[in-house]
Amino acid sequence: MEHIEAVVVGAGVIGLATARALARAGHDVIILEAEDAFGTVTSSRNSEVIHAGIYYAADSLKARLCVEGKIRLYDYCARHGVGHDRCGKLIVATDESELPVLDDLKRRAAVNGVDDLVHLSPAEVAARESAVHCLGALLSPSTGIIDSHGLMLAYLGDAEDAGAMLALNAPAAGGRVSDDGIVLNVGGDAPVSFCARLVVNAAGLDANGLAASIDGMPADKVPTRYMVKGSYYTLPGRSPFSHLIYPAPNQVSLGVHATVDLGGQCRFGPDAEWVETIDYDVDPARADVFYDAVRRFWPDLEDGALEPGYSGIRPKVQAPGEPAADFMIQGPADHGVPGLVNLFGIESPGLTSSLALADEVLRRLGLNTKG
Ligand SMILES: Cc1cc2nc3c(=O)[nH]c(=O)nc-3n(C[C@H](O)[C@H](O)[C@H](O)COP(=O)(O)OP(=O)(O)OC[C@H]3O[C@@H](n4cnc5c(N)ncnc54)[C@H](O)[C@@H]3O)c2cc1C
Repeated sequence: MEHIEAVVVGAGVIGLATARALARAGHDVIILEAEDAFGTVTSSRNSEVIHAGIYYAADSLKARLCVEGKIRLYDYCARHGVGHDRCGKLIVATDESELPVLDDLKRRAAVNGVDDLVHLSPAEVAARESAVHCLGALLSPSTGIIDSHGLMLAYLGDAEDAGAMLALNAPAAGGRVSDDGIVLNVGGDAPVSFCARLVVNAAGLDANGLAASIDGMPADKVPTRYMVKGSYYTLPGRSPFSHLIYPAPNQVSLGVHATVDLGGQCRFGPDAEWVETIDYDVDPARADVFYDAVRRFWPDLEDGALEPGYSGIRPKVQAPGEPAADFMIQGPADHGVPGLVNLFGIESPGLTSSLALADEVLRRLGLNTKG
């Protein structure tokens, strides 16, 4: 059987960032991607926001990797010509009860090392965003937007320059832990099995299923997969906002927010809907929820203005009703299988965190990083 040093399963933004980090650190890497192109799943179904690192619990992986990832991502985009815009965002309180939430967010952000948030009065908001109605807001100057496809292309380019290979239409279909490493069976057009010393399971929504299908991976360490769908509606024409506009967040999501993409198109979303199956159709019946949510901060939204856009699905490790969970990065110290890292629940801010998260994967494998 062929031996390979390192296999990354999944060519989303996390798998590509990890393959890049492994290859640049001198390891031979093959990236297995089930689809016929890279980055077609969650990594191209998100808000494309570079998050500041405001919301996440102190000392969590999300907080640490987002704040480090953001700094590195802006630098990376500038050096590699990846489209981005540090446009800033406003988190708006539209109800008296939400004003203390803003205070709490500012405190929480400072603990995470995000100390540039600024309180704005309604008049100060109006001076920046005349269409927005609110009772107060926080300005996050370090929040921005990014071309996620351009980012993945740059990661893949770096990985390939350092010797990595991407195999498309190559779904990992289970395997077993052996004395020599991890035997992986690859399906698709040219089924093959090989043995890898290092395996990074970055299969996104399929990571739980893949981990469970590796004989020798302790079943009790594989978390149940939960999913929360987020749908977007788009607004044709010129965006009424120049900043990203977010409501005060809740336990499940950051709320239906307004983002502007690099082409100047405004979209609203994602909402949050616990689902059991993967279906990316945007239900036109959800439009009412969007009109209500958006009109809280933009009362001038006209009837019929919104068009169904696209959707993405957040992989969750917590069940409905449970508190928000952290990224779950499981290495040998957690599950006992040498050379294996499983990535579960890599929802937002995964895109922002990708460079930092990739280095964390290498650390879990006991490897040096090259940045
Ligand atoms: C609605 C929504 C909005 C978001 N907004 C933001 C945001 O604004 N900012 C931010 O930082 N983050 C955001 N995120 C989070 C971010 O999109 C994810 O964290 C990130 O894209 C996860 O990347 P990934 O590589 O883990 O997963 P994916 O992109 O899903 O990649 C996994 C890959 O693995 C492949 N695969 C699966 N099974 C196999 C197999 N058996 N063999 C081979 N290949 C396999 C899939 O085809 C896929 O290409 C958002 C997420 C959602 C859902």
